[in-house]
Order: sequence, then structure tokens, then C-alpha cells
Amino acid sequence: MKAIRRFTVRAVLPDTLSALEEIAGNLRWSWHEPTKELFARISPELWNEVEHDPIALLGSVDPARLAELAADQGYVDWANHVREELRAYLREPRWYQSLDGSAPKSIAYFSPEFGIASTLPQYSGGLGILAGDHLKAASDLGAPLVAVGLFYRSGYFSQAITPDGWQLESYPALDPDGLPLSVLRDPDGAPVQITLALPSGVLRARVWQAAVGRVTLLLLDTDIPENDDSLRSVTDRLYGGGGEHRLLQELLLGIGGVRAVKAWAALTGAPAAEVFHTNEGHAGFLGLERISDLIGEGLTFDEALQVVRAGTVFTTHTPVPAGIDRFDRPLVERYFSTALLPGVEPAEVLALGAEDYPGGSDAVFNMAVMGLRLGQHANGVSRLHGEVSRQMFGGLFPGFDSPEVPIDSVTNGVHAQTWTDPMLRALAVERLGTDDTTHADWGNAEAVSDLDLWSVRTRMREQLVKDARHRVAAAWEAQNPGGIAPVWISDLLDPNVLTIGFARRVPTYKRLTLMLHDPERLKNILLHPERPVQFVIAGKSHPADDEGKRLIQKLVQFASEPEIRSRMVFLPDYDIGMAQLLYPGTDVWLNNPLRPLEACGTSGMKAALNGALNLSILDGWWNEFYDGENGWAIPSADAAGDGAERDALEAEAMYDLIEHQIAPRFYDRDRDGVPQTWVGQIRHTLATLSSPLSAERMVREYVERLYMPAAANEKRLSADDYLAARELAAWKARVRSAWPGVNVAHVDAGGLDAVPQVGDHLRVRALVHLNGLRPEDVEVQLIYGRALDGEDLSGVHYERLELDRAVPGADPSVAQEFSGGVTLTWAGSFGYTVRVVPVNDLLLGAAELGLVAAA
Ligand SMILES: *Cc1c(COP(=O)(O)O)cnc(C)c1O
Repeated sequence: MKAIRRFTVRAVLPDTLSALEEIAGNLRWSWHEPTKELFARISPELWNEVEHDPIALLGSVDPARLAELAADQGYVDWANHVREELRAYLREPRWYQSLDGSAPKSIAYFSPEFGIASTLPQYSGGLGILAGDHLKAASDLGAPLVAVGLFYRSGYFSQAITPDGWQLESYPALDPDGLPLSVLRDPDGAPVQITLALPSGVLRARVWQAAVGRVTLLLLDTDIPENDDSLRSVTDRLYGGGGEHRLLQELLLGIGGVRAVKAWAALTGAPAAEVFHTNEGHAGFLGLERISDLIGEGLTFDEALQVVRAGTVFTTHTPVPAGIDRFDRPLVERYFSTALLPGVEPAEVLALGAEDYPGGSDAVFNMAVMGLRLGQHANGVSRLHGEVSRQMFGGLFPGFDSPEVPIDSVTNGVHAQTWTDPMLRALAVERLGTDDTTHADWGNAEAVSDLDLWSVRTRMREQLVKDARHRVAAAWEAQNPGGIAPVWISDLLDPNVLTIGFARRVPTYKRLTLMLHDPERLKNILLHPERPVQFVIAGKSHPADDEGKRLIQKLVQFASEPEIRSRMVFLPDYDIGMAQLLYPGTDVWLNNPLRPLEACGTSGMKAALNGALNLSILDGWWNEFYDGENGWAIPSADAAGDGAERDALEAEAMYDLIEHQIAPRFYDRDRDGVPQTWVGQIRHTLATLSSPLSAERMVREYVERLYMPAAANEKRLSADDYLAARELAAWKARVRSAWPGVNVAHVDAGGLDAVPQVGDHLRVRALVHLNGLRPEDVEVQLIYGRALDGEDLSGVHYERLELDRAVPGADPSVAQEFSGGVTLTWAGSFGYTVRVVPVNDLLLGAAELGLVAAA
């Protein structure tokens, strides 16, 4: 029988245990080991059964057990102590409080998904986990974030695998009452309602609040009786429907999200957000809501745009076109033709998302393009991804070389306390005197011996093997109710065998099945008599992606061959809970994307934090951090003729590394059974990578390089009733209209002998038409570098040319002369040119307006 309705009855705790309710209500328990121990003590078996969910535990524990604990003074004191510790954590000054007063008082962080704990499955993969880690690190640093997302009734989906390897999706509904969430309410107790005026009627949403340490997460939920059925389902699933459903979710997230932040701030007295950060383009409509507000204060669209741009940070997360939302323009136009955003015209909205550059489509509205136009600060998520993004979006800045495209990069990081195994943390506490594994002195071999490190690594591998057997048995039982699981499942994997892990979403570019390229060779690797290898694999394919499901099927079918099935296992339903055992339990973390499509990749970082070594294509973060000792680089066959040849070359290189380097080193043991060289690499990995890979490092960078400058810029533009914003809008309009007439009419050079040599001075004089602009509106630049093949300059330098002679009293549109020079400092080829760009100290760089006039 299926219930037609379901709800959760919250437990009533004995008075002396009231601390437990307060502690369970803040998701900090998800990364605070002492708090988890407090809950586990209530009933270790039940704690495992409810998958470490305090609210489920309190809801299902026998009241007699609670009564017993309530009478146990030792336990009551412990609970009260943990509560005091939590309260202190929420209040005390942390890193952010040491910054000067210009640091923003509040930062609103928007994301379509958040991966915080398994109990709140509101994520599909890396983007969501990253958002969760961002909030946790912000909390630890004391950064005043308020986060905004949607509450998806069914989260992403649960994955099961049929006996012949096909992915099945199911969508169990979540019950918010059973989660650490509370409804945002007015002072009179009524739930706050966010409304959006849509063409089909008013969309309403209630707002759930979750406490993530010091950070409040607001989740909008349309599943309320005030909406009709079609509108109720707007927040049914993460990335569920296509076009219009997705657009509705994004309108709600962006526009509704800003409204929710305002309502929350008004109710709690929190300061207004000074910076808005959109994690990927999905939340980009947030900028339009803010523009609409400013128009309400008397600004024009263009003036408001200056203010909003200054205070918005846009992070792009993927160079894969399918990862970027593009909507049909007529659809977007229809939604903005109603009263959705007072003062904002549909044409103005459409222009922001227009692909009006060579190669763009005039039929679509591109959310990433809008993200760049609405966010003055933009970044990719690793250095290489920054470069790739500057090329990818170069069309928006015609005439500029890609290094000048104003997209920076902040390399992702992962939240160490969430992702470091408690056993490794305990070792750090015991031997190095700190539970902060990112700053522990792992190089200290006196304090932590090779044997210590190796024993912990072995125990973590054992833990994974046990978990994998358990999961495979449970999946088998689910498919064969009442049956007895076959014995081979209890012998699955071997706790002493070199273990390679591979888990992630399954889009084609991640190449789940590259390892199957040569099945015979792989079998020989797995079954090697002295140096066997085993693989633990997991991953979900997007429900609409049959190609991804076929890859999973191919892998599952291979892994079920009796000959190798105990050496290769696919674990269904990859999630945070599985990941937390998987990364620590693997010796080698494998990643073989098609370079450069992996923007950063974070699973390898989580593995490294646990002392696993990486085996990866030099893409994303690995391109930046591989140092020859912390793992292995699979060379990219970029020059291969076609995809198949490339796969073949890269797969062969991977097999070679496993066979000739990795396995021999893993099995090269000393008298104590310790692989010394290998452990040396583990130690090196922990000592050198833990700190730079941490989310704490990442959030500090966001604060210092993006949030603080963004807040400062927005403040300047807003001062004195938006005086600077009005001036900037007028200036841009003037520059844009004059620009077609701006040009470099003539360039003279002098100062060089017939045969120029190092040390000579090149003098350049340029005649420039300003078409009515003032000389201070522009910069005339001498650009020089090596002229290699053809005329392309490489290693370019910029030298400002100074105004020579403003012709007194003359028509400003007459030609002006600028001059300057450069001393030749290298021998060999030399090339130069002259260009004019607009300058204004409120711009971030020469390319921001996308205007240039070159000689
Ligand atoms: C870290 C993580 C991911 C993302 O891994 P990538 O290497 O970035 O693809 C996806 N899912 C889960 C459960 C994770 O923990």
C-alpha cells in the first residue's frame, strides 16, 4: 500500500536533553565530529541505520532510551557542553572579523544546488558540493554570507541499476518537516510568501531556512496550496524538465531569491546584501530584480545597470556548451512582457542575453552571456579554466586578445572537515596536536611515522571494502526480495589490493569507460598474480542522457563478468555519504576527462586531502598542482587525428602508468610491509596540497579578490544618490556613440638606426581621431612584443602614449597627436602597433566595454 500523504512527527525530548534539539537544528553537525559522536552515543546501530541524520535519529529512538539518557548526568553535561561550543562558534570573531571596515556586511550567494549533507539531497554533482563547501568554509571564516537556492521536493534522483546494467531513476519525495529546516515567518507567525507575476498568474513560494553554521540558507519552495497544480511543481526536481520549466525555476531562483533575501533581512535585522554572487549562470536573473528596484528609486535602466554590475560576481563553471542554459528568445520575451519586473522592458532583458557576436545564434537567450554583462567581476574555477573561458567568451570583447578578456580565475577548494576521514583527523590530533589537517605538519616523520600513515591508509581502505560489500548486498536484496545474497558478494574486493577509485557524474566528456578501451589488457591488470589492482566506480547519468546510461551499462556489464567481478565494482547511487568513504579508501584517484573540458574537478582534491595519489589528465586543478611527486599525469593526446585515436593513446598511456609505475611502487614493501616510496608520496601530498586545496583558501580569495573590490565599486557608484553611476552611464553612452569615428590615422616611428640593436630607443608618434571624445576618455597605447610567424605578437607589453599637442581652441574632432617610446631590450624579432581604448577608473580593464580602435 502507498500512502497518499505523509508527514513527520517531531520527537518531544525530555527537558534535560533540550540541547540536542538546538544542536540538530544547525547543519554544523555535518562537519563537526564531536557533535556526531554525541548523537552516535544515543544508539550506534540506529545512528548508522539513519545514515547519520540527527533528526531522523531523534525521531526514531525509543523514548525509554531518551529517558535513560535524560537521567544520565554525564550525558546531559556532554550535550550542554556541545551546545555551548556551538553557540560560541556562532558568535565569536573569526578571520573575517579581522578585516577592515570596508569588507561587505553581507554577501548573497546564489546557486541552483547545494550539497551540504546526505540528509539534504539538493545537489546533482560538483557544482552543488562546491556550493555546500563554500558555505561551510564561509561559516568557519566568519564571512557574512546568506545563501539562496530552491527546495526541490525530490532533490535530484535516486539511482538503481538493473541486472543488465541500465540506470533506473526514482524520485522519493522529501518531507521538509523531517529536515533541519524552518519556515521563514512574519512577526505574526504567518509564512512569508514570495510572489512573481507570471503571464499565467501569480507564482507563490514559501521560504525554508537552514542554518549552515553561521550562514543562513534560504530555499524557495512552490509546493504550497496557494499555487495551482502546474505552478506547485515548479520546484519538483533539480534539472528535471526542459525549457519552460527550467526557465521558471531560474526566474524564481534569481528574482524570487533577491526578494527572499530582502524579506529575510527585514525580518531578522540583518544588513542588506552589498555583493551578489551567482554560482554559475542559472541565478543570473537576480541582477534584473535589483535593476528594477533601482529604477524604482529613479534611475534609468543604464544607470541601474552600472550599480548592479559593480556589485555582482559571476562564476562560470563549465566550458561544455550543454552546461550553459540557453532559452528560446520568444519564451524569455513572453515572461518579461508582464508585470514581472516593474520598469524593465523586455527588449532590455533580451539584449543582455543576446549572442550578438560571430558564431552566436540570434534565436537564443544565453544565461552565461547575461552573467558576464550583469557581473563586472567574473571568474572561472581553475587557472586553465580561466584561460579557456577567456577564449570561449572572447566574442563579447571583439578586437582584444584573450588574455585581456576580463574573466579571472579562483581555483576551487574543498571543505577539509567534511572530506577528511575521522581516522586521519584523529592521527593529526594524536601525533601533531591539531585537528586542522590542512595546517598540520605532515612532514614531521618523528611524530608521524611511515607505519602510522600506512596503517591509517589501510584502515580506510578496509572501511571502503566493507561499505562496498554492504552496498552491493543491499542493492542485490532490493532486486531479489527475500533471496539470499550470493557468496561472492561477501568476498567482493580485497582490503589489501591496490584500489583505484573513479566516481563522478557521467557526461560524455568525463569518459567513464576509457578504462575499458582494451578489455584484455585491463583484465590482466586486475588479475595480475603479484600486483593485482581493483576499481571502485560510481556515478549518475542525467535522466535524459541515454548515452551516459549506455556508458554505465557497458561498465556494469564488464564488471559483472565472473572472472573479474571481485576486482571491479560499480556502486549505485553515488552521493555525499558514499563519497566520504570512497575518497579515503582509494589509493589512487583516477580522472580522465577530455582536456580542457573539466573546469576544475574537485573529487581528486578530496582524495588528496586523505592522502590518496591522483592519476589524472592534466586538466582543471591537476594541471595547476601536479608536481611529479603527488601522483601521475596522463598525457593528453591533443594532436591526435580524431576522438577515437585520442582515446586510444590516452588509455594506453594510463595502462602503462598503472602497470609499470603505480602497481610496482605500491607493492614494493619493506620489512614492516610498508611501501616506503609510496608513503613518501602520501606524506608529500598531505604536506603540500592540504592547505591550497582547502575551501578556506578558496573563500579567502573570493573575499579579498572579488567580494571586497565589488563592494567598494558599488559603494562608489551609489554614493550621493548614485551620482557616479549616472555619470558612468552617460560616459559609456557618449563613448559608444563616438566610437565608430575613433581611429588611428597615422603612425610615425623614429630613433632607430638602419640596423636596430638592443639598447636603441624606438620613438612612436600617432595621429588619432577622437571624434569628439576628450583625450582623457581614452588611452592610446603602443603595443609591442615578439612578432613570430605572420604578424601575431606574442608576449605583448603595453606602453601608454602621451598627448603631445592638443590644438588650442580647435574642433575636438580634429586629429590629436600622442607619442612615446620603448627601449629595445631583446634581440630578434620585434613588432609593434598602436591602439586606442576607452579608459575610466570605474572600469576593471581595457577590454570591459569591448571597444578598441587599432592602427
Ligand atoms: C565531489 C563530488 C562530485 C564532483 O566531483 P568532480 O570530480 O568535480 O566531478 C560529485 N558528486 C559527489 C557526491 C561529490 O562528493
